[in-house]
Order: sequence, then structure tokens, then C-alpha cells
Amino acid sequence: MRAIGVHEDVIVVESRIWRTAATIVRGGEEAFVIDSPVLPDELELLPALLQQAGFHFSGLLATHGDWDHLLGRLAFPGGALGVAETTAARLRAHPGETQRQLRDFDERHYLQRPAPLRLGSVEALPVPGYCEVGPRELELHPADGHTVDGMAVWAPWAGVLVCGDYLSPLEIPTPEASIDAYLATLGRLEPLVAAAAHVIAGHGGPVDSPTAMRVLVEDRDYLEALARGRTAATALPAGRRDGEQRRLHAANLERLR
Ligand SMILES: [Zn+2]
Repeated sequence: MRAIGVHEDVIVVESRIWRTAATIVRGGEEAFVIDSPVLPDELELLPALLQQAGFHFSGLLATHGDWDHLLGRLAFPGGALGVAETTAARLRAHPGETQRQLRDFDERHYLQRPAPLRLGSVEALPVPGYCEVGPRELELHPADGHTVDGMAVWAPWAGVLVCGDYLSPLEIPTPEASIDAYLATLGRLEPLVAAAAHVIAGHGGPVDSPTAMRVLVEDRDYLEALARGRTAATALPAGRRDGEQRRLHAANLERLR
């Protein structure tokens, strides 16, 4: 697991699997952990990492309801978990789904966890809206299209945008819910990307604003081509055409049918 300080109040932790990013944001004497690393040892280390950095844990946020972003309670079992209203609704509609997918993953990789994941109660946050962290305020922006739910988190004082599974420099767009909604989300993210010092994609770690903007333009081109029925693998963005990305592309095509 890599830990990267991008601002005096922001640390990004990158999981060894899928380069899944968790972002720790401090405001005064409080700190939120947004999303989560995946592997058991990484989650186990997380509280000590905050402590060493002098960040006082106060709560968890998740950008969306995909299981690999929801594991924060394994590191902070008592922690309050805030999610967008859309994510809370998704979790309510599919009780036990996160735990099932986590169990599948763990079984496939022969992983053991010290305790089961309890999602019990989550706090539904109005999005668009705000979320206080100490004396600071995080802005919450709707981010759906990849899935039916989700939010992007903007920390204005740090110029940090935590966008969930959008704008990944590694992974092509996976519009599991809707291409139109995905494109609308990219439109909402664009001015934030332009204003950002660092953009934290759910997979692929922190990138600077020009890099994220390049990814945004490529993703928009790819999705528009997909919507027009352009299905050749040459439609894939340069640098994201390896075997796994072709597999994701094939899944995108399958979803369209
Ligand atoms: Zn996702």
C-alpha cells in the first residue's frame, strides 16, 4: 500500500489491488476517510497511518455503493459511514450484497479477515450538499452513470477532487447504469477538474488537473462513440487498451445489447 501526501490536509492511500484509492481529508481536529483500501493488512494499518500523520479519525464517507469502496468499517468498526442518498437507497434495496461480493473476492484469493463487515446503519447525505469536517466544508456533487448512485467530493481549500470511479487513468469508463447519466456527470466534474490541484480517481491514484482533463476528454469521446454504436476496440483510449480494458469494453458492449 502506498501513502501519498498531496496537501497538508490530504493523504491518498493506494491499495495494492486495482490501485483502489482511499482519501483521508483533515479539517482541524477531524478527519474523514473517503472510500477504502481492499486487502486485510492495508485496512489493519489504516488507523496507525492516520495516527502517525496526526489526523484524528472522525468518520467514513464512500463515493458509491460498489463493495470495494465500502470497506472502511473493517478498519474503523464503530465509525459513522456517510453516503449519498442514492447510495443509501441502493444499499437498502440490496441488503447483504456488499458482504456477498466481499466474501466472493476473499474466497477467490484465499483471504481471511479478522471480523465480518458490518454496514448496519449508514448516514444518507443530501447531494448536492455539504459535509462539515471540523472548521472546513466538503462539497458533495452527484456522480451517477457508472452506477445508479454516487457522489464526488470536492475539498475546496485543498483543491482536491475525490471523484469515485470516474476519470481513472487506468480504467476505461464502465457505464453500468447509463451512458447519458455518465456523460452528465463528466459535465458536472469538468469545472471542478479545471479548478483542482489534484484529482483522486477511485482506481489509479492522484493525478494533476491537466492529466484528469485529458482523461475526461478521452472518456467523453469513448462514451459518445459507444452510444453511436462504434464498437471496435480501436475506440479505446490510447494507454487503456490492454487485455483487461478490452474485457471491460466487451462488457460495455454486452450491456448495450
Ligand atoms: Zn465502482
